[in-house]
Amino acid sequence: MDATVAELPDYLAEYGLVTLSNASGTLDDIDLEHQCPMDDSHLANSTAADDDDLQEDSSQVGEAGQSLLETLPLELRFMILLDIDIDILALISIRGVSRSIMATVDSLPEYQMIRMHCPNILRAIIALDIRAYNISILYETLRTKDCSVCGNRHHPFYWEPAPYDANPGDVAPRRLASCLYLITCQRLCSGCVIRGDDYFPMSVYQVSKALHLSIARVLASCDRTLPRAHMVPGHYTHQHKQARSRAFLFDRPAVRRACQAAGLSLELCVPRRDMRTAEVSRHAAVISAPYFSTRPQVVDWGFHCALCTTNDPVNHFRTRYTCHGLINHLRELHNITEGNNDKET
Ligand SMILES: [Zn+2]
Ligand SMILES: [Zn+2]
Repeated sequence: MDATVAELPDYLAEYGLVTLSNASGTLDDIDLEHQCPMDDSHLANSTAADDDDLQEDSSQVGEAGQSLLETLPLELRFMILLDIDIDILALISIRGVSRSIMATVDSLPEYQMIRMHCPNILRAIIALDIRAYNISILYETLRTKDCSVCGNRHHPFYWEPAPYDANPGDVAPRRLASCLYLITCQRLCSGCVIRGDDYFPMSVYQVSKALHLSIARVLASCDRTLPRAHMVPGHYTHQHKQARSRAFLFDRPAVRRACQAAGLSLELCVPRRDMRTAEVSRHAAVISAPYFSTRPQVVDWGFHCALCTTNDPVNHFRTRYTCHGLINHLRELHNITEGNNDKET
């Protein structure tokens, strides 16, 4: 699956910012590469004898299941590995069973693209022990570019609740919602990360209280019914607040649904004290995600406009554009075209 990374043409390179000067306050600031290495060298350099040892150790597939998998045609192997019940952690675990299965997983187009272009998303899923969805769901999410909540129409920062579509020159299609909410695999814009009630996860204590269940029962519940993340210690939010423990973060809408199904009060699911931009739990399960565009086939991480420096709701300095969107934005708003670099801010 060949795809190139989207880049601005040379004459625009200075106007596109890959990141803003301040840290994102999310998992982007955590050193996932070292905290969660995806070390394949033991398999890449392993011998047939080592494979025998690995087969004996395998608890995920079992010897019979493994042998069966290896004898099936590639297409069927792909179908099995993409089964909805094989979450990403299980897929990565299966991958470690033998060199042959590793080669099969590595040739899965969905896995290949994600592993090649955004391995930190896989590292984060491993580190946060997220088991609520499979690789297909993640891949399909990366093939979208719009915020799943507001369609890129919300202000990129918290103090302006006014939606963008009040503006006749609709710029939403140019934008990239660059945040991935890992608990339920949803693409979000930065505004919805800090403002959406549904993206303020609940602690295990809150869930236990809301569902009238012991903490042990809550933790034993199915990850698909109550999606959760096991937070990685580190510094989060723009204020770099420190999180020392590995607290659980539960998906609030899922708890709400469980309350509804049990006929319990939903009151305990309503967020009461929410510090928005300073809320660690709102940032600890969020990571930057590229857009896998199909036409043309590029991996687009998006850019901020270096010339937009104000808090203007339409052209806010935090607005992230797709590569193509920024080219149009620079041409139309700043009058920058090839051969004309007389910028208008
Ligand atoms: Zn949004
Ligand atoms: Zn601009």
